[in-house]
Amino acid sequence: MPDFERVRTELARADAVVVGAGFFGLVIAERIAESLGRRVVVIDRRSHIGGNAHSQHFPGTEIEVHSYGTHVFHTSSRKVWEYVNRFSDFSDYRHQVLALHDGGIYPMPINLMTINAFFGTSLSPLEARAFIAAQVAESRADPDDSLESRAISLVGRPLYEAFVRGYSEKQWQEDPRNLPAEIINRLPVRFDYRQGYFDDPWQGQPVAGYTSLCERMVEHPLISLFTGVDYFDIRDHVGADHRALTVYSGPLDRFYDDAFGRLSWRTLDFEWEVRDTTDFQGAAVINMSDASVPYTRVHEFRHLHPERSHPADCTVIAREFSRAAVAGDEPYYPVNLAEDRRLAALYRERAGTEADVLLGGRLGSYKYLDMDMAIAAALRSFERSIVPWFAGVPLHETLGRD
Ligand code: FAD
Repeated sequence: MPDFERVRTELARADAVVVGAGFFGLVIAERIAESLGRRVVVIDRRSHIGGNAHSQHFPGTEIEVHSYGTHVFHTSSRKVWEYVNRFSDFSDYRHQVLALHDGGIYPMPINLMTINAFFGTSLSPLEARAFIAAQVAESRADPDDSLESRAISLVGRPLYEAFVRGYSEKQWQEDPRNLPAEIINRLPVRFDYRQGYFDDPWQGQPVAGYTSLCERMVEHPLISLFTGVDYFDIRDHVGADHRALTVYSGPLDRFYDDAFGRLSWRTLDFEWEVRDTTDFQGAAVINMSDASVPYTRVHEFRHLHPERSHPADCTVIAREFSRAAVAGDEPYYPVNLAEDRRLAALYRERAGTEADVLLGGRLGSYKYLDMDMAIAAALRSFERSIVPWFAGVPLHETLGRD
């Protein structure tokens, strides 16, 4: 149980309260304490630090798992890379994803190996380009604006049927013919044998895990961290007797009591299992492409740290199921269809009028953000809005500045 008396005592002398101990909140807290020498209270309603990037040893095993699904750090920003390297060394892990379809294993995203293995060919890169273009022309996608038509117009019907249709149906719980095309802007196809999932120059895993990295970020005498504390239970105490900055990285609509309506999210369920084998699937993530398999992906966490020595007699896997979030679920991915965008714009406009509250992060901005994007956004907000706020400039005068 959190000690609310201590929370209140710390709030009474804090210059800022940061809601959410995910990457967005932690970067801001670290910067306010370290760079401005101001006192910060960080709270999270969950029982742990790290937000969705949280990692922990799976009970009864020595294997570190990612509680909300596999996370791989990758960035094209030197600034972000240098920043995170202040708190942890990184391994040289390079992520690869495979897909299981109809009993066969194929590399993802679709590359020359996927194409040649799937069609039983040995096409060169140029031949494969012409072949896929011919497949697209032959497939004649319907002229409607559905996810199915968009995908077929990008890769042709056979690859769509094998790798996109069943997966999308499970992700959205809807026939792709009824899903809007805007869900996929592009389907990357590589006409070479390159297998790395990400192209960024800097990639890897924090050697001691994400939780350890996050703990290092808040190891500062001016930062007090409280987990298991919901902002809406302590809101009235923030700045009650002095002016304080609030940085809120919880859900945008919740901050305004759903005043314009609720934003929609997708959530994930994980089915965890300890298998008594050294290696279950030989890779960290395998996508389940077929609609006949009810889950979308299988994670096997030992593969995220091949440099570690793992137990020989067990491995931890998690099967991932995707569905629409309902009240009480953890929000994972913004659905972001037209109505959501309309509502989000209304909320953002309102957030832009705040003098002492900055909303951000993936929940607070209602945007999917990779970890590096959340960190970059926090560093930007710190420089453009928070430093000026501490110099006496209200936030609404700095927000929206590019
Ligand atoms: P979060 O990590 O969600 O943190 C927000 C925190 O706010 C949460 O801990 C929440 O409990 C807290 N909070 C909310 N409301 C309240 C409240 N009322 N009071 C107190 N606390 C509150 N990124 C990558 O770069 N690589 C990957 O491989 C990758 N894989 C991902 C896989 C999945 C399945 C998901 C969902 C995301 C993945 N991401 C990945 C994205 C990554 O998780 C996000 O970039 C990151 O979590 C964003 O950090 P954040 O601080 O904005 O949000």
